[in-house]
Amino acid sequence: MIRVTENLRKIRDLLHKNALEHGRDPESVQLVAVSKKQPLSAVLEAAAAGQRDFGENLVQEGLEKIRAAGRDDLIWHFIGHLQSNKTRPVAGHFDWVHTIDREKTARRLNEQRPDDKPPLNVCIQVNVDDEASKAGVRPEEAVELAAYVARLDRLRLRGFMCIPEPKADSAAQRESFRAMRALLDEARGRALDVDTLSMGMSDDFAAAIAEGATHVRIGTAVFGPRR
Ligand SMILES: *Cc1c(COP(=O)(O)O)cnc(C)c1O
Repeated sequence: MIRVTENLRKIRDLLHKNALEHGRDPESVQLVAVSKKQPLSAVLEAAAAGQRDFGENLVQEGLEKIRAAGRDDLIWHFIGHLQSNKTRPVAGHFDWVHTIDREKTARRLNEQRPDDKPPLNVCIQVNVDDEASKAGVRPEEAVELAAYVARLDRLRLRGFMCIPEPKADSAAQRESFRAMRALLDEARGRALDVDTLSMGMSDDFAAAIAEGATHVRIGTAVFGPRR
């Protein structure tokens, strides 16, 4: 039981310290513990240590874990690629979707979000470094898609998400994250109500926090290597 609890404590300390270093309120940085390919026992251990936000990237695996955990105090974030034919269970069981990259997916989630749940929190996934292999909209298309999502009443537009190209030095990492912050500003300039930058993983969360990340998605550093 000690490892996940201890890892969480260390990461929370680091997030806190990084936020303060950059003049930010530590409460403004949320940890999403990425539990993909980790057993339910790891999720329950993290939950016992006070963790509430969890990230999953596969629909089936995520649904099974949500059901098996059987707790309504946990907040489930879908962070993987979402095919438009798999939106229904995601709309029914997750609290957030970070990876909206086309109107069709947003439209279906909006139609399928159950009436007895609050609007689904969503972020627009941005291919911030314009990589051929990556999902997400091009940066210049992101605000337009956000404006579309903002008009759907069963979705709640929160902001933008990215997975940048891996880069070794923090100055280069910060450049991509700064471009994300510019998108958030642009969206606000167009009167969109956005408050979220989902960015930063185990290897680059410090740079992400420096540039305004509100949700860092960390897996390995919390749970250890995946199965
Ligand atoms: C797996 C994953 C993470 C976490 O990655 P780690 O390197 O284990 O911290 C974060 N975001 C997304 C979208 C992922 O798929």
